[in-house]
Amino acid sequence: MASYIVMTLLFVFSASAEFVWKHHNNEELPLVLEEVHQKCPNITRVYALSEPSVCNVPLYVIEFSDSPGFHQPYKPEVKYVGNMHGNEVLGRELLLGLADYLCDQYLKQDRRIRALIHSTRIHLLPSMNPDGWQLSTDTGGQDYLIGRNNNHSVDLNRNFPDLDAITFEFERQGINHNNHLLKDLTRLAAPLEPETRAVMRWIMSIPFVLSAAIHGGDLVANYPYDESRSGAPVSEYSASPDDDTFRELATTYASAHADMASASRRGCHTTSSDDSATYNFGKQGGVTNGAAWYSLKGGMQDFNYLATNAFEVTLELGCDKYPAASELAKEWERNREALLAYLWKAHIGIKGIVNDDSGFIQNAIISVVNITGPVPRPIRHDVTTGAYGDYYRLLTPGHYEVTASHPGYFPVSRVVTVPHHQTSAHVLNFRLEVCIFLTIF
Ligand SMILES: [Zn+2]
Repeated sequence: MASYIVMTLLFVFSASAEFVWKHHNNEELPLVLEEVHQKCPNITRVYALSEPSVCNVPLYVIEFSDSPGFHQPYKPEVKYVGNMHGNEVLGRELLLGLADYLCDQYLKQDRRIRALIHSTRIHLLPSMNPDGWQLSTDTGGQDYLIGRNNNHSVDLNRNFPDLDAITFEFERQGINHNNHLLKDLTRLAAPLEPETRAVMRWIMSIPFVLSAAIHGGDLVANYPYDESRSGAPVSEYSASPDDDTFRELATTYASAHADMASASRRGCHTTSSDDSATYNFGKQGGVTNGAAWYSLKGGMQDFNYLATNAFEVTLELGCDKYPAASELAKEWERNREALLAYLWKAHIGIKGIVNDDSGFIQNAIISVVNITGPVPRPIRHDVTTGAYGDYYRLLTPGHYEVTASHPGYFPVSRVVTVPHHQTSAHVLNFRLEVCIFLTIF
């Protein structure tokens, strides 16, 4: 039904195929995606999430893949989410522009883009909060808060199940259960909003490896955890087990951005030349741990990491939440290489398939110990194999002992070296043998 409406609108408006940098409204957004799909039908698919916004606006996604609609083993899945806060609009336009760019460059035989699309499945959700966007736009787009929330006045980035509380409690009790924690949730702090529910289903149904949500209001790449362990509201570094990897992911974006990582730029929200009283993330490489900035519960970033195998960071792409349309092309130039560099990070670390004599093993556990230094350091966050027995384990360069296990099988461990500058994860497959217990009478 949704695609029928899009096709009809496309016909009625007979829109041109030339992408224009402007603020696309909620009717124009799917038209842009459909135009890209018409230009690149073999490598794209447009779809809507399982339910629309409160005001019934579908949440559209465009997918890039050489096999649209299908997961393929050894090909990591990545997503970008824009406009979660309705009045933070740059991500929405950047993702529309990125869709157009990926298609155009693919058609122009750009080797780097073709290699990316042939090795990666990419999903772009330009607007998670179209209702907030509408309110913000209708009221001039300049208020710091109006339009931030959805149409039920709920902040979507506080509406996800708080899995941090569960993992912190397991840590305190010394329980080594550190992934896919949604099943350990006993109650929700607040009802889930339709946009949250739709995105949660999406997150749980596709085996994403890497993700970023694009916000605005500062200029920094923010990584987990967003929630402090002590409950401190600000300034408490809250490291996840994958702190090294998350810092590398955030630094990749910041360093490839025009000036996110520049130590000489001014911080946002400064009123004088002395900005020492406010955060200037440029002086710390353009990155921050979430809770080291300020703590929040119910964020999407930590939910991705604690409910699935996906690693998500939060990108704040500018001091101005609603930049003028005339700024958008410039912002694209400032962000383009960073957006592409980040997508390539789906290919760091190791990947492989776990099977036995008869086929793939789903839900096998991949656990990792960093043995680079003199003291082995377990990374207490396992990933699991998907429907094809495949896994993706993002890691920074170094030496690791990797173990594949599953109830009913003997675990298998192997040592691997992860090199620098990967454009393809190191392949490490496992074959497990059934563990047969003999009963002696
Ligand atoms: Zn935001």
